[in-house]
Amino acid sequence: MPSSRGEEEEKPCRACSDFKTWAKLQNKSGITPPSKKPAASNTQKECPLDKDELGRSTWGFLHSMASYYPEQPSRSECEGMVRFFNIFAQFYPCEPCAIDFQEDIKKYPPKTKSRDELAKWLCERHNTVNVKLGKPEFDCSKVHERWRDGWSDGSCD
Ligand code: FAD
Repeated sequence: MPSSRGEEEEKPCRACSDFKTWAKLQNKSGITPPSKKPAASNTQKECPLDKDELGRSTWGFLHSMASYYPEQPSRSECEGMVRFFNIFAQFYPCEPCAIDFQEDIKKYPPKTKSRDELAKWLCERHNTVNVKLGKPEFDCSKVHERWRDGWSDGSCD
């Protein structure tokens, strides 16, 4: 998918495509084709993130932030977190993802009155993306085990 955020129209948007699609787009636009061993070279050379790498890292950050959010936040923390998600949705580097996320949080605005409320709200937002991509939904009752406490079977200890 080409970038539509201005200046570099001719370059395909790596953060909006999985690696294979991006590599094909590179070829079509006449840019030097990527290495034949994408996964290995991608990791070893610390290349820019594609859509899936960016998504995984971002969800990791967002869910961790929610699971470490205060249990009883102040009014200014509540308001700050609402502002954070609105600005995040505006600037997320995968533009088609950002547009859908903006729509989703317009429909379901951030719930920031407590840690549990925020973590559940975010889990549901992630599940909306999972469903859109045909992936299984995550059990939101386990969100703190996944992102803060470790699994109750002790496998993360
Ligand atoms: P991810 O979905 O990245 O999940 C990482 C880990 O989070 C999983 O392994 C699991 O342990 C845990 N997890 C899964 N679901 C939940 C949940 N509901 N709550 C808590 N933890 C969970 N990609 C697109 O192709 N199209 C899009 O429109 C799109 N929109 C996105 C919007 C946002 C805001 C973000 C951050 C990413 C978006 N992505 C989109 C990327 C996509 O969501 C995935 O990150 C990417 O496909 C890689 O998926 P994955 O299977 O590695 O796991």
